[in-house]
Amino acid sequence: MNSDRIYLDHNATTPVDPRVLEVMLPFFNDRFGNAASRNHAYGWEAEESVELAREQVANLIGADPKEIVFTSGATESNNLAIKSVAEKFDGHPGHVISCETEHRAVLDPLRSLEKAGLQVTYLQVDSEGLIDLKELESAMSEHTILISVMIANNETGVLQPVAQISQLARKRNIPFMTDATQAVGKIPVDVKAMGIDLLSFSAHKMYGPKGVGALYVRSGMKIGSQIDGGGHERGMRSGTLNVPGIVGMGKACELCEEQMQEDANKLKTMRNKLEQGLLQVTGTKRNGHESERLPHVSNLSFEGIDGEKLLLSLSEIAVSQGSACTSATVEPSHVLKSMGVPDELAFSSLRFGLGRFTTAEEIDLATEKLKLAIEQLRSQ
Ligand code: PMP
Repeated sequence: MNSDRIYLDHNATTPVDPRVLEVMLPFFNDRFGNAASRNHAYGWEAEESVELAREQVANLIGADPKEIVFTSGATESNNLAIKSVAEKFDGHPGHVISCETEHRAVLDPLRSLEKAGLQVTYLQVDSEGLIDLKELESAMSEHTILISVMIANNETGVLQPVAQISQLARKRNIPFMTDATQAVGKIPVDVKAMGIDLLSFSAHKMYGPKGVGALYVRSGMKIGSQIDGGGHERGMRSGTLNVPGIVGMGKACELCEEQMQEDANKLKTMRNKLEQGLLQVTGTKRNGHESERLPHVSNLSFEGIDGEKLLLSLSEIAVSQGSACTSATVEPSHVLKSMGVPDELAFSSLRFGLGRFTTAEEIDLATEKLKLAIEQLRSQ
């Protein structure tokens, strides 16, 4: 990695682990076969490698390999799940329950379905970012066809009470889907124990390559397709499989399974050190629940400071203001807004995301540089 820079934006994306890259490389040249070619060894070896990856991916989330559908990433997985459930439903206008702080990869498909008549309830969150289970319960009706609430928020790391949500959903026979893009590979996720019917995630958030992801579809759950043509992935997602990407995702999942706990312990200590260091600066506030949170994420507001100016003055430190996927807009973060954070404080907030290769030295240096930059901006 570039040694002059400090990368603390692992919620946006992660570097590919060298061990992942190593297993991917042969699939670009020597082993370039199409996993759907049934008549020769090139195809067979590609298919075998895809099936091994399917097992590795399934193992990480406690699923059966047959329940994994490979996609191009979490955006596609969310679209596939949400639109397919909504389409399958006919009769009265269906109703979906989601949450205001979801990623746009969930909110935008819902908004486009709303235009076609779907009714959506967006649950609010409290000042710590958590939904109210009573509010969820009272939003459920006989017309509810899906509940979609993420496990971990991409801006704050806040963890929703997913196991309790799924219990409530199950009592009413409502399918429960979760966008687990920020959670899988970082904290234990078990689809069976957590009662999940549909779960989406992406390789590039867990030290795998970009452009590949998966949707877990609980066996017995029937969904349609959004991309037709060839009937790949048991008809749920057609198109020649991205074999190198899938092989990489499989290896990334295997590595996460092996070292997730070790990574989390190490990162939590470093995250807490960074946070405690910065909270010493007057006017710094943490956004999001202190303990119900991913171990490697911190979202902080620096009162009176323009977050963008702070970022510009720290060009060697890669952190993000809100979510990278909505950075084209100048709106304050919809997540912080929903938590009741005033616009001015939301604009002064930064998201820190530590990762597997972050070092203690980097954290010390980043804390020092940030403190200095805040002091300088305040004295101007
Ligand atoms: N959901 C969440 C919570 C995310 O953080 C992201 C990535 N920013 C996505 C979905 C979209 O993932 P992808 O880039 O793989 O489509």
